[in-house]
Amino acid sequence: MEDSLLITRRPHASPTPPHARAALLEDPGFGKIFTDHMVTVRWVEGKGWHDAQVRAREPFQLDPAAAVLHYAQEIFEGLKAYRTRGNDVVLFRPRENARRFVASADRMAMPKLPEDLFVGAIEALVRVDADWIPTGEGSLYLRPFMIATEAFLGVRPAAEYTFCVIACPVGAYFKGGAKPVTVWVSDAYTRAAPGGTGAAKCGGNYAASLVAQAEAIRNGCDQVVFLDAAEHRYVEELGGMNVFFVFDDGTMVTPPLGGTILPGITRDAILTLARDEGLNVQERLYSFDEWQADAASGRLKEAFACGTAAVLAAIGEIRHVGGAFKIGGGQEGPVTTRLRDQLTGIQRCTAPDPHGWVHKI
Ligand code: PMP
Repeated sequence: MEDSLLITRRPHASPTPPHARAALLEDPGFGKIFTDHMVTVRWVEGKGWHDAQVRAREPFQLDPAAAVLHYAQEIFEGLKAYRTRGNDVVLFRPRENARRFVASADRMAMPKLPEDLFVGAIEALVRVDADWIPTGEGSLYLRPFMIATEAFLGVRPAAEYTFCVIACPVGAYFKGGAKPVTVWVSDAYTRAAPGGTGAAKCGGNYAASLVAQAEAIRNGCDQVVFLDAAEHRYVEELGGMNVFFVFDDGTMVTPPLGGTILPGITRDAILTLARDEGLNVQERLYSFDEWQADAASGRLKEAFACGTAAVLAAIGEIRHVGGAFKIGGGQEGPVTTRLRDQLTGIQRCTAPDPHGWVHKI
């Protein structure tokens, strides 16, 4: 049965020696160093999912006419494995990533990968490369993805795909640790229009965001904030993170999932933790005009961005074509710190897990 496809183990013939691995793990950065193995699973029309393997990580052989190279039929996910103080290896809500992967596949006319196979592939890779999981602050970032491999130049869904999982040990996402970030509100570019692919984690969304991110960096900012494409009024999300606003009356606001933003798993966890705390959490449209007015009046106390890679990052300063303003004097606020501590406590098993989010391998 393809749901429980057996993953064949073909370990690396000459894996990285322990001393070389230890040197690489000293300062892994983000997304630069990769483990010895990968998982691959193939899909062919009429045959379904087959040939699941955990094997040595190596370059793909891809026909130059492979559909992914021309029409960008590609989706991906991102999640982390952590080594706990008790020396367990855990994942955070991997089924949510599996579900989002299915939703992304659906939007991009790609075959649906069974959730059990998605989670099983990740577990298999984490087990074989467990020695690559950094201790302390670091984690093993997992990148499941699927590409259309059929060699055919007609514009239609491909008939062949490869699902793959690779892994990289990572340290802190932002240089300088949990320092508040400065964001650029893009005037020139939008990320996703109604009816488009904003809610899917497809590579094309990120290709389209790069020029806006470059504009942010040119303006001395860490990340870009996108406004909605229809009215160019409402705050949507950052290039790779969702956004939250915290007010002086205990209200917390985040933009709603309307099909144009990515349904972040960190976002969902923060909503739950904040509700548990008794904060008045609202998923509602929030305009850039409101943001500026609330920062000026002092009603807005904190803003933060959240996602798997960076966890929670306070937003200290906002820049845009018309000027700049700060929130909370540019410092991280107490709600941001508390929610981050709660979330990382659950993820690393130093705090209770009341919602059953931790998945032990
Ligand atoms: N928005 C975008 C555009 C992203 O790329 C990400 C990262 N996956 C997020 C939000 C946050 O999602 P998550 O919390 O699931 O990592």
